[in-house]
Amino acid sequence: MDLAFKPEHAAFRAEVRAWIEASFPQAIRDKQATGEHLNKEEILSWHRILYAKGWLTPSWPTEYGGTGWDPVQRYIWSEELARANTCQPSFGLGMIGPVLYTFGTPEQKETLLKPTVAGDIWWCQGYSEPGAGSDLAGLSTRAERFTGDDGKDYYRVNGQKTWTTQGQYADWGFFLVRTDPSAKKQEGITFLLIDMKTPGVSVRPIITIDGGHEVNDTFLDNVIVPVENRIGQENKGWTVAKFLLGHERTGIAGVARSKRGIERLRDVAAGVEGDDGTPLLRDVSFRRKIAELEIDLAALEYTELRTLAGESSGRGPGPEASLLKVRGTEIGQRLTELTLEAAGHYGAPYFRGFPKEGGNVQSISPDFAFKAGPTYFNMRKTSIFGGSNEIQRNIMAKAVLGL
Ligand SMILES: Cc1cc2nc3c(=O)[nH]c(=O)nc-3n(C[C@H](O)[C@H](O)[C@H](O)COP(=O)(O)OP(=O)(O)OC[C@H]3O[C@@H](n4cnc5c(N)ncnc54)[C@H](O)[C@@H]3O)c2cc1C
Repeated sequence: MDLAFKPEHAAFRAEVRAWIEASFPQAIRDKQATGEHLNKEEILSWHRILYAKGWLTPSWPTEYGGTGWDPVQRYIWSEELARANTCQPSFGLGMIGPVLYTFGTPEQKETLLKPTVAGDIWWCQGYSEPGAGSDLAGLSTRAERFTGDDGKDYYRVNGQKTWTTQGQYADWGFFLVRTDPSAKKQEGITFLLIDMKTPGVSVRPIITIDGGHEVNDTFLDNVIVPVENRIGQENKGWTVAKFLLGHERTGIAGVARSKRGIERLRDVAAGVEGDDGTPLLRDVSFRRKIAELEIDLAALEYTELRTLAGESSGRGPGPEASLLKVRGTEIGQRLTELTLEAAGHYGAPYFRGFPKEGGNVQSISPDFAFKAGPTYFNMRKTSIFGGSNEIQRNIMAKAVLGL
């Protein structure tokens, strides 16, 4: 196992750092710095800059837009993106893209994959339902097949999806639907692509506790979907669904983002005075809390590098993906707890109103504490989505301990 960065990796880091510095738009940089929500066009503008450079989807096969970088280069790339506090490209790209190039028909690759990469199609994920989250295979959205008056085959879809992230922006959605209610749970599911403009599709906002609009309920009411919009075979959607979830968990440890978060925590703690009038950052017990967090983060980083070293020598990530997700999200949440503690009463979320365009809220907190409260609340989601941390522990118990 070789964890050391080679000289060519240092040169690579310098190259990508300089490019990001020159290319990431200042207007988005400013919003990111204060933790404001970005709107669709802002996200897509960065997406298109990455696409034009050819650096949008480094891990994909080169024929579909991959860069051919080795795992260490890809790690450096994600570190540098996080260091510069860039935003993610359009939602769903990293999930539906691999599904389309692995299972898609040539026509689906042409009409859906290419425009998705170019930033012309925005996706949402229709997996969870009010009665199906951790037990995803228990989903009940129903798709019934029929032949239309034009002699073509269609599905009629009825049901409700929930927690649909950025569904308000989506042009298309990838949905799990039940096509055979009499089969075993996992065997009656089909993976369908649905144009969100189809009559019968409606999206209703869920406003989260931080005041943001990032999730929705999605209703499907007699939605007619051509059979050609199916990925893979009918009733074989569970295989596609699991393949996609593997891609959803990639990079969820967020080591580089947490490193940046610790820098920000220090800034906040340096700007807030404790009871005796000295900055909190000089308080020994508070410094100890930051040090403990840094130690845990360093341990996580080495675990991630070990996983990468394994990948470089041809081993796929196994239960490590679950371990990285659990520890990464715990550390990310602790970071927001300490930032809120450092901000003190300045961190209280004094909302002036509900979010308008882009889902931003106004706060009367000083700049250094702006968003400390809302970010604390928002980060609670990370131990739930992408498969809750309890479910990840079950996976580790099974794979590592054989329970
Ligand atoms: C912000 C956010 C964005 C999301 N975006 C999307 C999206 O875009 N598309 C989408 O389809 N879904 C999305 N989700 C849904 C997400 O995948 C589910 O919330 C998640 O799978 C958990 O399901 P649930 O909410 O139904 O909780 P439940 O499954 O009801 O779980 C409730 C609690 O019980 C625990 N639990 C459940 N089963 C077990 C078990 N067997 N062992 C131990 N503990 C267990 C869970 O860990 C959890 O703490 C999003 C969720 C959030 C919070």
